[in-house]
Amino acid sequence: MIPKAHEANWKVVGMALASSSFLYTGLGATAAFVALMLHSPSPIRHAFYEVFVHFHFVAAAVSFGCLWVHLHGLTAKAYLLAAIVLWALERATRFFIIFYHNFGRSTTTATVEAMPGDAMRITLRMARPWTFRPGQHIYLYIPAVGWWTSHPFSVGWSETEDAMTDEKALPMSKQDLIAGPQKETISLLVRRRTGFTDKLFQRASNALGNRITLRAFAEGPYGNIHTMDSYGTVMLFAGGVGITHHVPFVRHLVAGFAEGTVACRRLTLVWIIQSPEHLEWIRPWMTSILAMDRRREVLRIMLFVTRPRNTKEIQSPSATVQMFPGRPNIDTLVGMEVENQVGAMGVLVCGNGGLSDDVRKVCRRRQKKTNVDYVEESFSW
Ligand SMILES: Cc1cc2nc3c(=O)[nH]c(=O)nc-3n(C[C@H](O)[C@H](O)[C@H](O)COP(=O)(O)OP(=O)(O)OC[C@H]3O[C@@H](n4cnc5c(N)ncnc54)[C@H](O)[C@@H]3O)c2cc1C
Repeated sequence: MIPKAHEANWKVVGMALASSSFLYTGLGATAAFVALMLHSPSPIRHAFYEVFVHFHFVAAAVSFGCLWVHLHGLTAKAYLLAAIVLWALERATRFFIIFYHNFGRSTTTATVEAMPGDAMRITLRMARPWTFRPGQHIYLYIPAVGWWTSHPFSVGWSETEDAMTDEKALPMSKQDLIAGPQKETISLLVRRRTGFTDKLFQRASNALGNRITLRAFAEGPYGNIHTMDSYGTVMLFAGGVGITHHVPFVRHLVAGFAEGTVACRRLTLVWIIQSPEHLEWIRPWMTSILAMDRRREVLRIMLFVTRPRNTKEIQSPSATVQMFPGRPNIDTLVGMEVENQVGAMGVLVCGNGGLSDDVRKVCRRRQKKTNVDYVEESFSW
């Protein structure tokens, strides 16, 4: 209850606000900017990403709209105009990138395969040729499932598909027929979460053969601030679908070793999975890597299966591809590599927070004695 003495004052405030567009738009812009600040912290973003993103657009539009009126006749409006022009240019560039990559003689399609362990392998048949570097990601739009929303995913593999000879390219369903003659493919490995990825997983697992082909748009590629080319010794730690981030590095470094274009002389991939079934996620990509020229001289793969159904499942296929039950002892693995280190050592991690914490701790402990760089990808902003 407002005391009587203040009632008249508040009336004056109300009248001033109602009669002055300068005041009420200034207040509106301030409120919108405060709302932008309050709803942006990481826990809110992560808990309600779609709500956050849509509210963010609305609040930004309200704040800019109010400011536009508020600054009428003032020189400061030029700065606002500059910000709006830059924003519009960024949007237009993104739109052009989407249009250029996804519309040609045909449009881009995504074949989504539901896999064991709540994962999906998504193969995008691009409308135009596409190149990407290890560590880059794309934004994926599948309007039939996610409407206008997009989601970032690391590119796990890319190749030129021979549509005439590859059995996988034969149309399996009516939807496959709309995939068209594109030959450039980009593959992603996606973990099922609770929003877009859950709907997509359900669509694929309810379809014939656990796979479905849908129209899609890929935007990018973006990112890639890290290159592992200059390290003589490289260790890659992946947990679960984090492997998708590392596969392009393995492919690039093995090819670079054979061609003499990278410093890498020792490359160790440590992948932690819950079940041997999860090997299926990247089986076609790994088959190609294992067949690469001089691969045995540089690459060692260590697979750790944390929940094997029985010990018979754990069999090492060769001396350079070994399988172990349980979790790895990170300290021992890094220690072994440090002892045999060639040149500087680069350690790259992509997995859950616990794995990253463990590897970071072990690397930091050794950084005073030897040259070790630690790089982390967390699949999050
Ligand atoms: C650079 C980058 C690369 C990634 N690469 C992969 C990958 O290769 N494989 C993979 O499985 N996952 C990857 N992710 C994570 C993936 O983007 C999210 O798991 C996915 O967007 C979740 O969608 P959802 O609607 O099912 O999420 P929800 O179940 O609603 O949310 C799960 C989590 O995903 C986050 N999230 C939801 N939507 C987005 C979005 N549009 N942008 C960013 N984060 C979002 C939420 O904040 C939340 O933390 C990557 C993320 C980033 C930032």
